[in-house]
Amino acid sequence: MTTNKQTAILGIDIGGSGIKGALVDVNKGELIGKRHRIPTPKPSTPSNVAKVIAKIVKHFDYSGPIGCTFPAIVKNGVTLSAANVDDSWIGADADAIFEKTTGQPVHMLNDADAAGIAEMAFGAGKDQSGVVFMLTLGTGIGSGVFVNGVLMPNTELGHLELNGKEVEHVMSDKARSENDLSWKKWAKLLQSYFDHLEFIFSPDLFIIGGGVSKKSHKFLPLIETKAKIVPAKLLNEAGIIGAAYAVKERQLLPE
Ligand code: BGC
Repeated sequence: MTTNKQTAILGIDIGGSGIKGALVDVNKGELIGKRHRIPTPKPSTPSNVAKVIAKIVKHFDYSGPIGCTFPAIVKNGVTLSAANVDDSWIGADADAIFEKTTGQPVHMLNDADAAGIAEMAFGAGKDQSGVVFMLTLGTGIGSGVFVNGVLMPNTELGHLELNGKEVEHVMSDKARSENDLSWKKWAKLLQSYFDHLEFIFSPDLFIIGGGVSKKSHKFLPLIETKAKIVPAKLLNEAGIIGAAYAVKERQLLPE
């Protein structure tokens, strides 16, 4: 039997504008102390981002496995797409690059998958069986799909096409503010997306995350779904918590 003694894991959330890290109590699903944020470097190439990751590790004087989110497809530590980040990430061996600059083992996963993992373990999806869709509405639209608590990784449902357009280009929170959409107009657009998702997947629960989920009372009541629809509970911290918790789940902790 393995006994995982380390309970404080460093979780790092890489976003288009900021890279945030914090120590996470992976038994409680809570941050220990404050987050440390550094703006995402420009250009956001793997080597530039790796330097920031090293700074965050140094800030916490941390040694041990690191969980890290990324806003793209991540398979076996390799980033395979780059919708809102520098194109040079496509095909980059992110785990290996970060391990080299930090000297610590790194486990990278998609940002919406990480947020979903945190919500399923500690937030709005706790003890939920059936089909759960975590959707993050931010710069892009991310998705994390769970069946009886088990993640199907890298679903990328923000890139579904509806009326000839990728949904994240017209319905992300970025699109809402850039196009100056009222909550009502945005909710109407989102309604067509939820209708489509429900027709294809018949989920039991939608959890809505991303920064705008703080204002969910302004748009969620305007959307009608057969499935239950609720705001995320862990808000901005879901990515960091999920990344750290994924390290625990994958038994990457030293004994
Ligand atoms: C990316 C996803 C990501 C989402 C949210 C999309 O553009 O393709 O991988 O989860 O944005 O950041």
